[in-house]
Amino acid sequence: MSDISKEELLRRVAPCSLLCYTCPGCKDGAIACLSAQLCAYYEGYYAFNDANLPAKYRGWLEEFSRFYDMLTQNAQAACPTCRQQPEDSRSCIPGCVVRACHAKKGVDFCADCEEFPCAAAKDFFAGVNPAAGEDWIPGSNRIRQIGAQAYYWERESLSHYQSYKKDDAQ
Ligand code: SF4
Ligand code: SF4
Repeated sequence: MSDISKEELLRRVAPCSLLCYTCPGCKDGAIACLSAQLCAYYEGYYAFNDANLPAKYRGWLEEFSRFYDMLTQNAQAACPTCRQQPEDSRSCIPGCVVRACHAKKGVDFCADCEEFPCAAAKDFFAGVNPAAGEDWIPGSNRIRQIGAQAYYWERESLSHYQSYKKDDAQ
């Protein structure tokens, strides 16, 4: 795998270690781009089958139509990624401590912060989103272990919802 630019890396990996790139809400993320590509490949498919299929084979056409609508919605995901969100906008966790803090600390990732894992973020995640908090520590530990580029490539083709916590040795 070749490295991506630092700018692109910071767009794709949030300061907490979550990958914005694999999030279904991410504009230009994997799911939005692949959905757009599938929509393009399926263009005209419904109309063709609607015009040509014998009645006994047409049962799945409405299901296909719903699937296509879902793909279209996925392709229109609008979040510009965690770091690109305006401060006052809704991020993946409104009021996220990490998002507000890392720039003040002058670090790209919590993994680079000497206070990691800090009590403020631990308490925040425990209160609002324990699942994100459970990934914050092992994800950041992994960045410390192998570096942010390697971490990105390790996760870029995995589901956003596949947790690291089961692999964490700490
Ligand atoms: S808002 Fe917070 S939890 Fe969500 S991706 Fe950004 S830093 Fe991570
Ligand atoms: S103080 Fe906590 S939230 Fe802020 S950068 Fe360090 S570890 Fe992350």
